[in-house]
Amino acid sequence: MAQLRLERDEPAPGVPAVPGLAGGRWITPAAERWELVYNPATGEVIARVPFATGADVAAAVEAAAAAYPAWRRVPPVERARLMFRYRDLLERHFEELALSITREHGKTLAEARAEVRRGIEVVEFAAGAPTLMLGEMAEDVARGIDSELVRVPLGVVAGICPFNFPAMIPLWMFPIAVACGNTFVLKPSERTPLTAVRLAELFLEAGAPEGVLNLVHGGREVANALVAHPGVKAVSFVGSQPAAQNVYAEAARHGKRVQALGGAKNHLIVMPDADLEATVGAVVSSAFGSAGQRCLAGSVVVAVGEVGDPLVAALAEAAGKLVVGEGTDPQVDMGPVIRAEARDRIAGYIERGARSGAALVLDGRKHPHLRGPEGGFWMGPTLFDHVQPGHELACDEIFGPVLSVVRVPDLDTAIAVANRSRYGNAASIFTRSGAAARAFRYGIEAGMLGINVGVAAPMAWFPFSGWKASFYGDLHATGKDGVRFYTEVKMVTSRW
Ligand code: NAD
Repeated sequence: MAQLRLERDEPAPGVPAVPGLAGGRWITPAAERWELVYNPATGEVIARVPFATGADVAAAVEAAAAAYPAWRRVPPVERARLMFRYRDLLERHFEELALSITREHGKTLAEARAEVRRGIEVVEFAAGAPTLMLGEMAEDVARGIDSELVRVPLGVVAGICPFNFPAMIPLWMFPIAVACGNTFVLKPSERTPLTAVRLAELFLEAGAPEGVLNLVHGGREVANALVAHPGVKAVSFVGSQPAAQNVYAEAARHGKRVQALGGAKNHLIVMPDADLEATVGAVVSSAFGSAGQRCLAGSVVVAVGEVGDPLVAALAEAAGKLVVGEGTDPQVDMGPVIRAEARDRIAGYIERGARSGAALVLDGRKHPHLRGPEGGFWMGPTLFDHVQPGHELACDEIFGPVLSVVRVPDLDTAIAVANRSRYGNAASIFTRSGAAARAFRYGIEAGMLGINVGVAAPMAWFPFSGWKASFYGDLHATGKDGVRFYTEVKMVTSRW
């Protein structure tokens, strides 16, 4: 990464600083606060992030504002061509991007590749900007009077991202916003900022004019400074529920358009008629993929009727075999968690869960198939059975490889258990019955549903549509919602 360089007076010499980007210039601000970026599989420090000051945030927003008038005038078809070029560059750098994700996040290379693929699909969607931005027209809304709807960009948009998808979530945001004619200030997660720097470098290489995409680094203060800045017209946020609620409230207070995607607690209902083998595979990869650090991870299995015993036995067998280790090792099924604090927080849940009366079937603190380096942030797959629906194991977003089984007698109770959750991101049912699947689809209070699918991720041309405390706002990320979010409508009524 060419732009990573060390300033002589910074702490931790030898560890590269992560640069920000404003107006096409890479800068390492003279920050007072720095945070370390780790490779979670080794515990090694791989970079340092300088936290932007208010002045750095203002410089990035001003650069975006300065670039906006010219960018807005670029015809959508030319903006789309930038996306085609960007897509080609992302394809060419596919492996390098996947490796960068694995290095700073820890997920396996296979998971990282899937993430890059999902990100590229958003760029492909954004390349449809000329069609996506089409207006509407009606002749003779009254005698001799015509009406037309014109879709126009907003101006400067800010995006604030979580650690768990270092490429895909930035790519949910800026390609669609920029293709719609906006300019953008991106704040990646301070824990996984390196892949975002590479994404921005490639965007410049694809021909993005100076100031169209800018980058600032930092934590909540920097996020709040972006939200409050009068030059920012709209805010896309993805992260934990309290932060999402905060960003939503702050953005509203400042009169901004906002979409804030929050945390999750996804329920997977398993009916007695489900295909057990296929279901176990889907549940295990939903719960333990990316070490459970996904907002679409299944974290509560609701086992209906007599499926409980065979299901728990099969889950324990499958999850117990998962090989945990460094994501670059092809033998590995599951990587580390993001930080030592995350591992300790998850261990706290396991400790309290074991004391709650629930059955600890698999204890991730003592996983036998751990082959990662000693300094890594390791937590093996954990399985609890007979969890009470009101217990924290079944209610809190643990964001780690912990799966809890709640047993219920029938589908109505299963749906009621899932609907007790304050979250409503995703839910799945495993069944061979169309009637059960229909009752589930009809009754469940969540926005992304899987039927015999464990990770119900909508493709880029649909909205990522969480409900309840998983989402604050009106228009969701990606798809037509994304285009509507990043555009404003003008209604023109004319008589000649
Ligand atoms: P986080 O909330 O700690 O951080 C997310 C971003 O918000 C970061 O850029 C961070 O700097 C900033 N931030 C932190 N606290 C803030 C605050 N109080 N106000 C404003 N900004 C703040 O989240 P994380 O740990 O990086 O990511 C994991 C979380 O993100 C999980 O809860 C997960 O479910 C959620 N997530 C949700 C989706 C979704 O689509 N709903 C997708 C991915 C991740």
